[in-house]
Amino acid sequence: MAKKKVIKKSWAEPFKIKVVEPIKMTSRAHREKAAEEAGYNTFLLKSEDVYIDLLTDSGTNAMSDYQWAGMMLGDEAYAGSKNFYYLWDNVKKYYGMPYFVPTHQGRAAEHMISQILIRKGDYVPGNMYFTTTRLHQELAGATFVDVIIDQAHDPANEHPFKGNIDLKKLDKLVKKVGSKKIAYVSMAGPVNMAGGQPFSMKNLIEVHDYCKENKIKLWFDATRACENAFFIKEREKGYKEKSIAAILKEMCSYFDGLWVSAKKDLMVNIGGFLATRNKKVFEEARNMVVVYEGLHTYGGLAGRDMEAMARGIEEMVEYDNVRMRVKQVEYCGNELEKYGIPFVRPIGGHAIFLDAKKILSHLQQNQFPAQTLAAEIYIDSGVRGMERGIVSAGRDPETGDHRYPKLELVRLTFPRRVYTQAHIDVMVESIASVYEYRKKIKGLKMVYEPKYLRFFQGRFERL
Ligand SMILES: *Cc1c(COP(=O)(O)O)cnc(C)c1O
Repeated sequence: MAKKKVIKKSWAEPFKIKVVEPIKMTSRAHREKAAEEAGYNTFLLKSEDVYIDLLTDSGTNAMSDYQWAGMMLGDEAYAGSKNFYYLWDNVKKYYGMPYFVPTHQGRAAEHMISQILIRKGDYVPGNMYFTTTRLHQELAGATFVDVIIDQAHDPANEHPFKGNIDLKKLDKLVKKVGSKKIAYVSMAGPVNMAGGQPFSMKNLIEVHDYCKENKIKLWFDATRACENAFFIKEREKGYKEKSIAAILKEMCSYFDGLWVSAKKDLMVNIGGFLATRNKKVFEEARNMVVVYEGLHTYGGLAGRDMEAMARGIEEMVEYDNVRMRVKQVEYCGNELEKYGIPFVRPIGGHAIFLDAKKILSHLQQNQFPAQTLAAEIYIDSGVRGMERGIVSAGRDPETGDHRYPKLELVRLTFPRRVYTQAHIDVMVESIASVYEYRKKIKGLKMVYEPKYLRFFQGRFERL
């Protein structure tokens, strides 16, 4: 019998399991009923009815024993908690920003920075929109303009840095409206809506230089910055030998400030913050946080939450930790590929984005292909993903029509340190089986539509 040749190429989780949370196995009939009751919106399913939950990686991560131990050290003083000062120290140390304001999650920081920097009639160019980010920019009176490179809108394009900003697009906007009308450039990385695609350091430096020359502020949605740093290390010349921490620090050095949802990179269940090198912005944010979140030394968080965040920062920059995360997503993508299932290329940092437009090519976009596919995968196996397409894109505030995004995707997002390779195998087989019977799947119609962020609460019926 031929023996297998040894090739050392596998990676494994840099942890062992200490506590387990049982999950429920359900029947297809049970899930059919659950999906109908949830209006075919995976956001409205009960978590109990879900087997493998890939709805989001937001706040769904497994904390380490080091973070849990820190929870017991919560200093729950109303003012001046020692956890706040420890967290602030780590923000300075790892993000290189001197000023810091905690918030209960990322969108609270987005709200503050939008209200502080935007005047009515301003423009905010960004590398593709993010739902809550753009909404806060619009609520503050700005028009968001997408200046990401064209390749980001093509799910088959293999560009290694699809999160890059197209400087020609940015310059065109600046020439058209004048730099005074640009509230700030909003840069995120990796870009969630483009499929978890990173920007390169080279592009960031070019954008930074352009902004400096034109006296435009540059702000960073650093929610997933460590994943971006990992891609820079893997793909960009000159960064192979640098640590994730060093790359993160360099990235941050080009921005005036940043906001973070700690529910992602920092591997906690709740939290966020705003950090900046601009003292004036800091002072305004510190004042504003009192109105919306709580005193500036807790910002809507418990002392224990801030302790877990501070410790999460130390863990998020560990190479093995980021590698495990990104490689798990890559493993899933490679397995899906074996069945010929179309998804956004290259494989992103936090999620697989199935190309629902291709998979359900017999549906019109206003029959909600991605919404339909997400519901179908849930019914097949209890795997919960979410829509990123026409429902998430919402309506044009001017015309009131649906926005028709080029991409119609189902996002399967991996919580950090939660699922094993065996879970992924089960999930891949389910998607492959749905893919086999895809032609029989009928679309949906929307029967309830909330005004804001309709993907969270909208309801659908089968056509
Ligand atoms: C999650 C997220 C946000 C919003 O943060 P919340 O903590 O959910 O309010 C903003 N930007 C990006 C890139 C995100 O992933």
